[in-house]
Amino acid sequence: MITKQKSKTITVDKIPVDVKRKDIKNLHVGVYPPDGKVRVSAPQHMDDEAIRLAIVSRLGWIRRQQKGFARQQRESAREMVTGESHYYRGRRYRLNVIEKPGRAQIRLINNTMMELQVPPGKDTSGRWRVLDQWYRQRLREQLPDLLQQWEPIIGVQVPECRIRRMKTRWGSCNIEAGRIWLNLELVKKPAICLEYILVHEMVHFLERQHTERFRDLMDQFLPDWRLRRDELNQAPLAYETWEY
Ligand SMILES: [Zn+2]
Repeated sequence: MITKQKSKTITVDKIPVDVKRKDIKNLHVGVYPPDGKVRVSAPQHMDDEAIRLAIVSRLGWIRRQQKGFARQQRESAREMVTGESHYYRGRRYRLNVIEKPGRAQIRLINNTMMELQVPPGKDTSGRWRVLDQWYRQRLREQLPDLLQQWEPIIGVQVPECRIRRMKTRWGSCNIEAGRIWLNLELVKKPAICLEYILVHEMVHFLERQHTERFRDLMDQFLPDWRLRRDELNQAPLAYETWEY
């Protein structure tokens, strides 16, 4: 008889790791915001030493994720003032704030500058809202073309594709509701990453789990998906991982 164990903490190379045994086939490692906590789900039969080795083999990735979260925390401490760096479609822009009466707006200049025009007296959170809305519009306007392109290739219809901020996922889907959620943060990444996540979630309409069939479908539709995933994994967000 297998008795379920509660989670326990082991330390690997000075990194505390929460380990939980579950009825699963493959080990799953996740790094979570805000402080980069490491959690592992392991198959019931896997012993501690095998788990430790699996974590050691992923230490590089774990450290990159943790660094990313640290950077993200620094980024979220930004005040929306001239000179800060902000990202859009994989490119870094220097923010230039211009106080001017009238409608708030954002313009990109020479692929290097993000000009934020705001009425005088708009505070940090007001400025953030302007940027947030701009990001949402930019992401939303990319979706119709992408969906139109991919629906016939994958052979699924996506009735609803929505955007929200998510802390641990780049995308998710609700198959019953026919809805895909995309993380607003994708707007800051190269366009190939947005396409990868959208295709990934669309493929879930054909195959729910990250099975071999799922990977075969990804290989078929988007042969370079691993490169795109690695590009995203450089970035400060935990993303669902699976054995490959
Ligand atoms: Zn998935």
